[in-house]
Amino acid sequence: MSVVDLRSDTVTRPTAAMREAMMAAPLGDDVFGDDPTVNQLQERIAALTGKAAALFMPSGTQSNLCGILAHCGRGDEYLVGQLAHTYRYEGGGAAVFGSVQPQPLLQDASGRMSLADIEAAIKPDDPHFARTRLLCLENTWNGHVMPDDYLRDATALARRHGLATHLDGARVFNAAVASAAPGQGTLNRLREIADHFDSLSVCFSKGLGAPVGSALCGSRELIDRARRLRKMAGGGLRQAGLLAAAALHALDHHVDRLAQDHANAQRLATGLAGIPGLSVRSAQTNIVFLDVADGRGPALLDHLKTHGVLATGLIGLRFVTHLDVGEAGIDRALDCIRGFFAAPGAAGAAAQHSPGTAVY
Ligand SMILES: *Cc1c(COP(=O)(O)O)cnc(C)c1O
Repeated sequence: MSVVDLRSDTVTRPTAAMREAMMAAPLGDDVFGDDPTVNQLQERIAALTGKAAALFMPSGTQSNLCGILAHCGRGDEYLVGQLAHTYRYEGGGAAVFGSVQPQPLLQDASGRMSLADIEAAIKPDDPHFARTRLLCLENTWNGHVMPDDYLRDATALARRHGLATHLDGARVFNAAVASAAPGQGTLNRLREIADHFDSLSVCFSKGLGAPVGSALCGSRELIDRARRLRKMAGGGLRQAGLLAAAALHALDHHVDRLAQDHANAQRLATGLAGIPGLSVRSAQTNIVFLDVADGRGPALLDHLKTHGVLATGLIGLRFVTHLDVGEAGIDRALDCIRGFFAAPGAAGAAAQHSPGTAVY
């Protein structure tokens, strides 16, 4: 039985064409700066995001960490969403490795911190306070596209107060595909999003389908600082062109097809509408969240797993579409979910669960 794996868009396997591109890539030692494929990728992603330089990173977590530490020093702080990846899902790295304090702020249902909260959290220059240095945003956040006027206003507010700005753009290509104006083109939209920020991190290993890799993009000075930090973090890789080739292939072939993932997420959400005991909480870009009544989320997850359909979550379940799941896979997931709710004796005992839902 083939598995329909909707746990995350990180589960994709490199396509045959991507593997061929990896095998054919010219290689060097990237710690010496002479891996031509890494250099090509860095130049490419810097140009696409309109930044002076970029640095290939083993993971998005390390990319965000090096970005935050390149902006902030010991005793500085960054403003960040309470549920943002760079606060909640990165092991507290900026605090642990950099003595940089996060100042988490509440987010609304689509991930926005209010401008008033951001402004109120910016500390005056006073020895009581950490020095507020950086605003971190995330786009997409839980699949939500941040509206352009929000990105503009929040980053303008930060700049007025002398703060730098960083975007966790793990899924910024999804945001660009979903929010490009008709005829604008995804890459022009990407550039527009990136223009609001001093730096951004993008992932090649999510919807773009590469096995490994992210990039930090920013000014030359910032990237020089980040290169030193990446070495300290153990992220200086040698013949990394093998991996960079996969990312280049993804940029050539897997950007505009993200629209299919978004359509498949809608297909799933639409197909689930009207099932009693189940509600679609959110279905944006390639991520669908479901709320399952009566504590039956874990039972539904088990049922799905028995039928070769994988998702994550506890009370709220999360399904993420990607290039290894087509319409047929979505329809299999739908049949399976419908089957679960149609089964006699379906009322299960409410179970006790932690409210933390994995999002990665
Ligand atoms: C996946 C992800 C990251 C980085 O994750 P890695 O697994 O370390 O590559 C960062 N931010 C968001 C929002 C993510 O979804």
